[in-house]
Amino acid sequence: MYQEQSSGNAPRQGGRRPEELVPSRYAVQVGDIEVLVISDGVLPLPTKMLGHNADPAVRAEWLTDMFLPQDAFDWALNVVVVRSGDQTILIDAGLGLDPDLNLPRAGQLIKRLAAAGIDLGSVTDVVLTHMHMDHIGGLLVDGVKDQLRSDLRIHVAAAEVEFWQAPDFSHVSMPPGFPDALRSAAKRFATEYGNHLRLFEDEYEVAPGVKLHRTGGHTPGHCVVRVASGGDRLMFAGDAVFAVGFEHPDWHNGFEHDPEEAARVRVLLLKELAETGASLVATHLPFPSVGHVAVDGDHFRWVPVFWDY
Ligand SMILES: [Zn+2]
Repeated sequence: MYQEQSSGNAPRQGGRRPEELVPSRYAVQVGDIEVLVISDGVLPLPTKMLGHNADPAVRAEWLTDMFLPQDAFDWALNVVVVRSGDQTILIDAGLGLDPDLNLPRAGQLIKRLAAAGIDLGSVTDVVLTHMHMDHIGGLLVDGVKDQLRSDLRIHVAAAEVEFWQAPDFSHVSMPPGFPDALRSAAKRFATEYGNHLRLFEDEYEVAPGVKLHRTGGHTPGHCVVRVASGGDRLMFAGDAVFAVGFEHPDWHNGFEHDPEEAARVRVLLLKELAETGASLVATHLPFPSVGHVAVDGDHFRWVPVFWDY
C-alpha cells in the first residue's frame, strides 16, 4: 500500500539538495560501456534562436504545439560521462559559472559530477564536441583545473582550434554580448589547456568503442561521438540536433556558424539514426535526452525512451 514518506524532501546523501526537483543524472548501458548523462542545468534563450530563418508565424505555431512560451524557453544543457575499459571520458563540460553571465540555473556540472560520485581526478580524457562556452565553461571554473590530472588528454578537432583563432560570426543570430563572451571563453580555454589538447582531423577512437567524427556545420570542427559495444549503439550529437530539429531540420539555429551546412549535417545524422535505431543523446534536448529517431513523412520524430529503473 502506498505510504507518503514524510522525509521525501529532506536532504539526501550524495549531495542532492532539497530544492532540486528532478534527478540530474541518468545512466545508459551500451554493451560494456557505461554512459552517464549529467545535467548542467538550463539556459534561457530567446525563441527566435530556434530558427532565425523560419516564418515567425510557423515558429509561433511550433511553440504553441509544444506548450512552450513564445518569448524565451529553457535549453537543457546535457553533459556525458563515458566509461570504457579503464578510461573515464567527459564529453563536453557545461557552461561554467561566470557571474557576469547571470545564468544561475546553469553551470551545475562540477557539483553534479561530485553528487554522481565522479572525482575530477578520475577523468582520463575530455572530448569537446566544439568550443562554444556552454561546452567548455565547466573546466574554466575556479579551482577545477587543479583537480584534474596532469596527464589529462583533451580531444578536439584541429579545425575547431584553428577556427577560434579568428572566428567568423557573420552567419549567426545570437543575443547581444554572446559573440564576445564566446570568443573570450574559447581563447581562455585554448590558453589554459593548450598543453592538454590532442587534435584530430576527421575521426579518432578515444577508447574501445568510443569514436569521434568531425561533422562541421555548427562550427567547422564540431564533432559527434559514436559509442558502440555488443550490438548496442548510441550517438552523442552535441549541437547538431536541437529540439526543433526533428520537425524542422532546415531551421537555422542562431548559434550555427555555417547554418546551411549545419542543416545538411543534421538531416544526414537524423537519417542515420532512424536507419540504425541507435540511441541519440544531444546537448540541448530535454534531460536526460535519451531517445530514438523515427522518420515521419518528410520530417523526423523524436521518441524518448521509457526510463529504465
Ligand atoms: Zn551548445
